[in-house]
Amino acid sequence: MSFINHWLRPSILAASAYSTPPADGLLKLDAMESPFALADDLSAKYLTHLAKAELNRYPNPNASELQKTLRELMNIPDEFGLLLGNGSDELIQLLALACDSEATILSVEPSFVMYNLVAKSTHLNYVGVNLDADFQLDLPKIQAAIKTHQPKLIFIAYPNNPTGNSFERQSVEKIITATDALVVLDEAYYAYSADSFLADIAKFPNLVVLRTVSKIGFAGLRLGLLIGSKSTISELDKLRLPYNINTLTQISAEFLLQQKDQIDKNAQIILAERKRVFASLNALNNLRAYPSDANFILFKTPNAQGLFDYLKANKILIKNLTNSPKLQNCLRVTIGNYEQNQQFLSAVKTFQKG
Ligand SMILES: *Cc1c(COP(=O)(O)O)cnc(C)c1O
Repeated sequence: MSFINHWLRPSILAASAYSTPPADGLLKLDAMESPFALADDLSAKYLTHLAKAELNRYPNPNASELQKTLRELMNIPDEFGLLLGNGSDELIQLLALACDSEATILSVEPSFVMYNLVAKSTHLNYVGVNLDADFQLDLPKIQAAIKTHQPKLIFIAYPNNPTGNSFERQSVEKIITATDALVVLDEAYYAYSADSFLADIAKFPNLVVLRTVSKIGFAGLRLGLLIGSKSTISELDKLRLPYNINTLTQISAEFLLQQKDQIDKNAQIILAERKRVFASLNALNNLRAYPSDANFILFKTPNAQGLFDYLKANKILIKNLTNSPKLQNCLRVTIGNYEQNQQFLSAVKTFQKG
């Protein structure tokens, strides 16, 4: 037996690493990235700005300039606290680290896999309550699970990944008021959704909202936000590692996220494309696309594995969910720009004809 096998916590030995498939040379429509790169004129200005980075110094410890920029970009009221993370993944981990040992995290299935992974790696329990047949919250089941398991943390992705829908607001509110757990509304897709729980932070002391810049064009920056009451955020901030937002991310985001008009414009293009791709997919025989409030679409088709393989052979990578328990024959495609979506749609049509 090797040293590490002997030494490591057994649950880590048994786990598999978070894996991302190789995508070299493929059209990447698997990870909800934005298709929009920086415009050339902006690129040059950005480089000049970047040259000011003092890489011999530690970063601004609170990323205070960047906080201001983010508050403006996302209209975050001054009376709310704001905590930044190295991606929202880091903030999910930080929330788990704030819990007592043996605490339980509750979420729904299918949803974002990170809630379960983080629970495991932080020695917490995880309970996943199945969504109903329409991918909506099963309120009685959730309320029963809250009673039985007394969770300390409840994660609700709003809109949900990988299903793409937003849950009924009323059900979410009932969960928030039915528990003394901290309820985390994960709004990674806020830019593509008509609704948000941001303002509700003022009403519910046990509510925090998680956001990220990953799905609005800046996945490479690794920058997530946790928004909550000032008192909640200042306690959680004690768990943040010093300098967790590096200088390059701070300087880049301060500059790039000031382009609010461009960011909004890009989101509008994605919304129009989502509508078009949704209609085109649903016009096909043997294929059902589910309505989406995010920048991706989940769809179901009898030979999903075959279609996935065919797309990949044609250099298009989407997400294969056929092996997830509740998502047999389901695939998830990220909305790209017009040309990318055309490439995807025409490959799907060719496969169906064959
Ligand atoms: C993509 C996604 C995130 C992203 O996390 P980052 O670490 O900020 O890239 C968080 N939550 C959900 C539900 C997501 O789909």
